[in-house]
Amino acid sequence: MILIMLGAPGTGKGTVASKLSEKLGIPQVSTGDIFRKAIAEKTPVGIEAEKYMSQGMLVPDEVTIKIVEERLKDSDVQNGLILDGFPRTIEQAEALDKMLKDADKNIRLAINLETPEEEIIDRIVSRRICSNQECKTVFNTKLNPPKQDGICDKCGSELKQRKDDNEETVKNRLVSYYKQSAPIVDYYKEKGLLYSSEVSIKINKMAVDVVEEVYELLTK
Ligand code: ADP
Ligand code: ZN
Repeated sequence: MILIMLGAPGTGKGTVASKLSEKLGIPQVSTGDIFRKAIAEKTPVGIEAEKYMSQGMLVPDEVTIKIVEERLKDSDVQNGLILDGFPRTIEQAEALDKMLKDADKNIRLAINLETPEEEIIDRIVSRRICSNQECKTVFNTKLNPPKQDGICDKCGSELKQRKDDNEETVKNRLVSYYKQSAPIVDYYKEKGLLYSSEVSIKINKMAVDVVEEVYELLTK
């Protein structure tokens, strides 16, 4: 089963992907996480990616597509995966279609999370992530605070803020999203693969609620 997460930064793609990954027993593949690991390890890809990520810009398609192509060859993803943060451009979506066609595989669903723009910046600057790389649980100091300040409920590790989760970078990330990534929502809609759901405090709906909806849809 191949699932794709779509939506602006801060809508909760990672949270939905990680919970669905647990429930469905298929790995979550996050291009953002792959780049952050490469940056921490100072690999050539990491050094290249950091130039863009620190500005809130998308890493060039050429680099990103190659990374996903390599990851899709790993044995753990052969029975399915949840792509979190890829594709983010039409060119990436077309490249993914080609990779899957060559491997005789199909996308089951593209899950699109919609959050009002005015909520997004607030959500991102209040986001805190567990520093334990095996855990990476996401908290929010306002919407979903940890029981103890700065400490992960799940594993007790320190919570950290992502470097690019500041107001200025977020604004650029939103511009990149609307310009380059939003068009792929229609790309999947036209293919009949789109499932859109709203995540907003206005309707009291969080990413975890979408997990239940999607799980039911996929297993009924
Ligand atoms: P968010 O969805 O909150 O922006 P991610 O972890 O998915 O967080 O992405 C963080 C950054 O990593 C992006 O701003 C971008 O610079 C880079 N990135 C991640 N995925 C892609 C992609 N598919 N194409 C280009 N850049 C990407
Ligand atoms: Zn943790």
